[in-house]
Amino acid sequence: MAAAASACGGAGCRPQCSASAGGEGDAPAESMGRLSISAAAATCGKCDGGGAAVAVAGGVGMCADCFRAHLFGKFKLAVTSNAMVRPTDAVLLAFSGGPASRVALQFIHEMQSKAIQSWETSNSQALPAFRLGVAFVDESVLSVRPGHEIDMAIEDIKSILSSLSPGDKQLHVAPLEDVISSGSDDKAARLKELVGVINDETGRDDFIRCLRMLSLQKIALENGYTKIMLGTCASGIACHVLSATVKGQGYALPADVQYVDTRWEVPVVLPLHDCLAQELNLLCELYSLKTQQLLNRPCSGINGLVASFVSRLREENPSREHTILRTAQKLKPFSFNKFSANGYHDFLPSRLRPKFQNIDANESTFSEILCLICGSPFSESELQNLENTKHKAQKKIDLYTAHCCQSCHFQILPAATDMHGHFFSLLPKFWTEKVDTASASHSSVRDQIADYLLDEDDEN
Ligand SMILES: [Zn+2]
Ligand SMILES: [Zn+2]
Repeated sequence: MAAAASACGGAGCRPQCSASAGGEGDAPAESMGRLSISAAAATCGKCDGGGAAVAVAGGVGMCADCFRAHLFGKFKLAVTSNAMVRPTDAVLLAFSGGPASRVALQFIHEMQSKAIQSWETSNSQALPAFRLGVAFVDESVLSVRPGHEIDMAIEDIKSILSSLSPGDKQLHVAPLEDVISSGSDDKAARLKELVGVINDETGRDDFIRCLRMLSLQKIALENGYTKIMLGTCASGIACHVLSATVKGQGYALPADVQYVDTRWEVPVVLPLHDCLAQELNLLCELYSLKTQQLLNRPCSGINGLVASFVSRLREENPSREHTILRTAQKLKPFSFNKFSANGYHDFLPSRLRPKFQNIDANESTFSEILCLICGSPFSESELQNLENTKHKAQKKIDLYTAHCCQSCHFQILPAATDMHGHFFSLLPKFWTEKVDTASASHSSVRDQIADYLLDEDDEN
């Protein structure tokens, strides 16, 4: 089970799943499976530059520089072909300190530097450079680590950022408990109570992940960021595909395996979508990119089991993760998995424009009902249940409950329904307010047309 600790092979797609990047045993080459610096493949298949070559999964050997260029190429292609970053954007990079978010930081920094340079050399005639900030969600409230370790970790992150110039990158450190509404006097205690109410281990793990996304959204909204960039990589998505299937979240799954996710107030982008955790680990090692592993938490429950299963698959065949990902991508994405042409057209290469125009013409504005907690789009039966609840006598708790997807019902909501009131009272207001607003507008329409409605008694 030792290898089970990290969901994504230790690349830190998510802060909690990078417990042992490069640290499984003391043999990094071994932990990276067949992706290793191999003396056997003496020359680079790309540049004939000689030097020690790196074996890439399913490909030819490459020298370190070609390997780096290969990964940067995948990153850049994901960014440009999905219109992830506009010149006018402010991008908030979610930084856990693991290899994946470290590589994302490095690459997006390089794209920003290029943009700054061409802006300067062109005497401000070119497109301006986007703004870049870094967010670190401090989850120490849920761990038993001593405070000075967190402080050291934050110092590390600051030193990483100060080494990246040009372009100032603001660092936002947000304690996870800040997602609890400001009215409460002891946010940390409330957050602990809330997490403690959840009995299921997997549910707790998933719930903390939802809180983390909420925290990032909050930082972005309060500081004027227009995009959130995650370091989620192919290996992390492959784990998610399997665990979501096991949890019965198949309907919502296509939403989570795309490059772009605009269902949140601040859209989320995944530029490392096509890179494997092992590749990112290796890049950090080859180029001595400083990572920060101090605060990592292993996944638990189903998530931990799936992580160990995927790492077994990887040992047998390094390209298995790509296979899982490709299979999941055959599922039809939701309308919120793409940016619409609005505001993007001017910045897109002409060959991509038709792709974005089509979307606008065919798919109207996004109108999915999303789970109050996890943001999963509702399936037919969940919608039906919500409609039924809306038409019954309205107790707010019932309405909140009906706004949770089946998976959250099963794994996150307390089993005893009389505990629901307590649970929802502890939830961040950011979530419950949306239901309040929706039901208020619904009931005001009801009031306006009340005279024309039949009384319940008359319905028969
Ligand atoms: Zn080469
Ligand atoms: Zn849910």
